Amino acid sequence: MKIVIIGNGVAGTFSAQNIRNLDKDVSIHLYSKENYPYYTRIKLPQLISEQVTISDLIVFNKNWYVKNNIELNLNSEIKKIDTLHKQVFLNNNSLPIHYDKLILATGSLPNIPPIKNAKKFLRNGVFTLRSIQDALDIKNFIVSKKVQRVIIIGGGLLGLELAKQIKNRDLDTTIVEFFPRLLPKQLDFDCGTLLKEEIESMGINVILDAATEEILSEQEVITGILIKNGTKIDADLVLIQAGIRPTIDLAVEAGIKCNRGIIVNQYLETSMKNVFAVGDCIEYNEQTWGIIPACMEQAKIVASTVLGKRDKAYKGTIPKNTLKIIGIDLTSIGLFDPSDKDLVGAGWEILKNIDKKSKCYKKIVLKNKKLKGAILFGGKKAVPYISKNIESEINEDELRKVVELFKWRCKNCNYVYDDAKNDILFKELPDDWKCKCDSPKTMFERNPDNI
Ligand SMILES: Cc1cc2nc3c(=O)[nH]c(=O)nc-3n(C[C@H](O)[C@H](O)[C@H](O)COP(=O)(O)OP(=O)(O)OC[C@H]3O[C@@H](n4cnc5c(N)ncnc54)[C@H](O)[C@@H]3O)c2cc1C
Repeated sequence: MKIVIIGNGVAGTFSAQNIRNLDKDVSIHLYSKENYPYYTRIKLPQLISEQVTISDLIVFNKNWYVKNNIELNLNSEIKKIDTLHKQVFLNNNSLPIHYDKLILATGSLPNIPPIKNAKKFLRNGVFTLRSIQDALDIKNFIVSKKVQRVIIIGGGLLGLELAKQIKNRDLDTTIVEFFPRLLPKQLDFDCGTLLKEEIESMGINVILDAATEEILSEQEVITGILIKNGTKIDADLVLIQAGIRPTIDLAVEAGIKCNRGIIVNQYLETSMKNVFAVGDCIEYNEQTWGIIPACMEQAKIVASTVLGKRDKAYKGTIPKNTLKIIGIDLTSIGLFDPSDKDLVGAGWEILKNIDKKSKCYKKIVLKNKKLKGAILFGGKKAVPYISKNIESEINEDELRKVVELFKWRCKNCNYVYDDAKNDILFKELPDDWKCKCDSPKTMFERNPDNI
């Protein structure tokens, strides 16, 4: 059997690896538009700040493919799929490449919002970051044009990580975000406010609630941006990091059912027989992902399905995101703001603590004692526990211990102080703090049994 995989990102590569682990004999052929064997995109911003080199990013070198008997075709964009004859083509005149099973692992591309002139100046003052080539182009532009001021449109995870690396190059750096808070998909308003302060303390400017209307230029050289409220911000370079869109064109042309992504069922089968899809490009249950853990999970399932086993079914992946900026510990998992979804009410419980003094924020979302999500800012100790127990029923006392949200009771008057309901942790109260009965802080006992 001949399996053709289009795309050599994490989804395509791990599908190939999982297939090989299950079957030593099938022939596996990977096609990639890019010119590198599998590399991680996580550290692309550091390639711009020259803190890593290309070889630091490569996860599997070419020998890995040889050793696993996987044929790797680089610089090979598949331009057409003929599902009737089970063939793909590199261009209009190329010989057909036959497949028995085809896996689409075409990933996603940066979204470019409808900003006037953004497309006109793309790769000439306006850039997005998705690939090694993009990072090299940005770095070369910064050096060759002696860039001083950079605007990053998009205050999501990638926008922030990119901004930090731009700042590391000692450039004037401004993040412009459409929503009224940073990380709108991962944080609630309170935590977004704390994060903004942290980012600004690194010397990065943050402008929120700002819809970019136009890329400004003089004599075909970009000079900045215009925001909808009329404000102009000067810049020599504009980086757009405003979300992603699944790469579906090839599938659409081949008549495969697509919506936002390529639609798949729980076995990662598309609407076309013998064609499967995996990774950022898929849509399952009206949802798309765009994170590595989802790709890895799906790669296991598709390997099984392609080999005719159908013994694993996809149920979706719980989103987990960690901001990768040295000096900031921030993880957001699962459903972190039920109020956003009008879900508050029966069974929902939120344990929350904002400690502004220590720049610490903890928020745990429970439903009927099941852990549904969390935001952990200013400490990562509890992340493994939360990740392990997400969607499971938990013991609240155990949880409170791990995330250090305690209840305290005054031995004199029985007054209860709950860390999870206050803006400051009990252990950090000022020493002269007094209970309402006038007892000192030391009269409080932690987590007595019967409260
Ligand atoms: C800067 C950056 C940082 C990130 N950090 C994180 C992180 O910290 N944690 C996390 O979970 N996720 C992170 N992500 C997201 C993560 O990288 C993606 O979820 C992951 O790369 C998706 O893998 P994929 O294999 O589905 O698609 P991709 O990685 O997009 O790979 C698809 C490949 O298919 C190729 N291709 C497309 N069409 C064709 C064709 N017709 N012919 C041949 N080849 C084709 C593309 O060129 C591409 O090489 C980050 C992404 C970026 C850009």
